[in-house]
Amino acid sequence: MPPPPSVHARPSTAPRVRKIITGPLPKLPAEQPAAVGAVAVAGADRRGWEIVIPEVVLNKIVRNAGRALQVERCSLALFDLTAGELVTVAALPTPAGGLRRSRFRPGEGIAGEVARTGQPLLIDDVERDRRFKRLGRDPIRSLICAPLIDGGHVLGTMTATSPQPAAFNPSQLELLTIFADQAALAIAQAHRAEEVDRLKSAFLSTVSHELRTPLSSIRGFIEIILSGRTGPLTPVQRDFLESVQASTKQLHRLVEDIMQLSLAEAGQLRLACLPADIGELTRNVARQLRPQAETAGVTLELALPGGLPLIECDAARIEQVLANLVGNAIKFTPPAGQITITAGEADGGVWVSVRDTGAGIPEAEQQKIFDRLYQVQHGLNRGYGGAGLGLTIAKYLVEGHGGRIDVTSRVGHGSTFTIWLPRRFCPVRSD
Ligand code: ADP
Repeated sequence: MPPPPSVHARPSTAPRVRKIITGPLPKLPAEQPAAVGAVAVAGADRRGWEIVIPEVVLNKIVRNAGRALQVERCSLALFDLTAGELVTVAALPTPAGGLRRSRFRPGEGIAGEVARTGQPLLIDDVERDRRFKRLGRDPIRSLICAPLIDGGHVLGTMTATSPQPAAFNPSQLELLTIFADQAALAIAQAHRAEEVDRLKSAFLSTVSHELRTPLSSIRGFIEIILSGRTGPLTPVQRDFLESVQASTKQLHRLVEDIMQLSLAEAGQLRLACLPADIGELTRNVARQLRPQAETAGVTLELALPGGLPLIECDAARIEQVLANLVGNAIKFTPPAGQITITAGEADGGVWVSVRDTGAGIPEAEQQKIFDRLYQVQHGLNRGYGGAGLGLTIAKYLVEGHGGRIDVTSRVGHGSTFTIWLPRRFCPVRSD
C-alpha cells in the first residue's frame, strides 16, 4: 500500500488572501467636501465589493512605503462596507508582531477625516490637533495620511506615523500619496477582475440553462431515430448520426459542468449525504470507465484494501469526482500505460489515489489545474474534449465534504491525484 497521500503532508501553496466587503465612500464632490452625515449613510445604497486580494500585495505596498519614507509605522485601512468603518488591513509589523486591527468611522480621527474629505493631511503635533483620536498605545506625535481614491471615490487611507513631533515634510506626504494611489489602483483592478469574473459566471450560467432544454430534445430525437423506430437508416446515416450523438453528449456534459460550477461558485451546491462505501464507489467508476481505458490501450488496476470504513458523503458526487480523475488519467496516459487506483484510511477519514504513468504535469502548473478553464499545454488535450472545468468542480465537491484534493506529478513519469474525505462531515444536507 502506498504511503498516505500528499494531501496530508504538503502545506497549502495558495497565497493568503484578505477578504473584505469593501466599497467606495460617496463620490467626492467637485468643490465642497462631503458632509459627515452623507458619508454615514453612503454605504447603505451601494453594492459592496467583495475584494479578494492577496495579502502580500497590500503588505508589499505598505512595506515599500515604509522603506521609502523611512518610518517604522505605516498602515493601510480600507472602508468596510458592512461595518461602515475604516479597518486596518495591512501594516508594518509592530514589535509585538501581528496586525492591530484599528477601526474608525469616516470623519473620526485623522484618517477618518482624510477619508471623509479625500484630502491628504500632514499633522506636526497630534497633541495640538483636536481631530486626532488615540487608538491603542502607539507613541504617535506626528503623522501623514493620504486617501486611496478610485474614480472620485475614497476606498481607504494610508498613514505613516512617528513618535517625534514635526517628523514629516510635504514631499513625504506627496510620496505617501503616490503609494496610496498605487494601492487604490491594485484594489480597483482586483475588484474589476472579480466583477468581470462574476459577470462571466452569471452569463455562462444563464446561457447553459437556456441550452439545456433544446439540447435534451435534440438528444431525445437522435436516440429515437437511431433506435430505428422512425424507419431504417443507411449505414452512412447511422454513422453520421452517431457522430452527432457523440458531439451532443459532449456538449451536454459541458453545459452540465458550467451549471454545476456556477452553483458551486454561488455556494448553492447541495450535497445529499448518506453513509457510503468508497470502495464500492471506486469499483463502480472503474467498471464504467474500463471500456474507455481498453480503447486507449491503458491498463486500469484496482488495489483496494477490504474493510474501509463507511464515509458520510454524497455518493453520486464522489463518483463524479473519481470518474473525473480516472477519466483524466486515461486521457493523459499514452497507450501501454498503467493506471492504479488505491485507497486507505488516514486522519479519521478515507483517501483514494489515482496514479497514472502518463504525461505528468509541470510543477509550476500543479495547483493551477484546479483553476477553472486551466489546461496544461502538453499536446494531449486536443481531440479529447474537455474544457478545464472537471478538476475545479472536483475541488469544490471534495472541499464541500470537508475533504482535500491534491496532486503530485513528474513530467514524463505520471501523476497521482489523491482525495481525502473525512468519515463524518456534511455541512450541507439535501433539502
Ligand atoms: P479537462 O480534463 O476537461 O481539460 P480538468 O479540470 O479535469 O479539465 O483538467 C485540467 C487539466 O489538467 C487538463 O486539461 C490537463 O491538462 C491536466 N490534467 C488533469 N489530469 C491530468 C493527468 N492525470 N495527467 C496529466 N495532466 C492532467
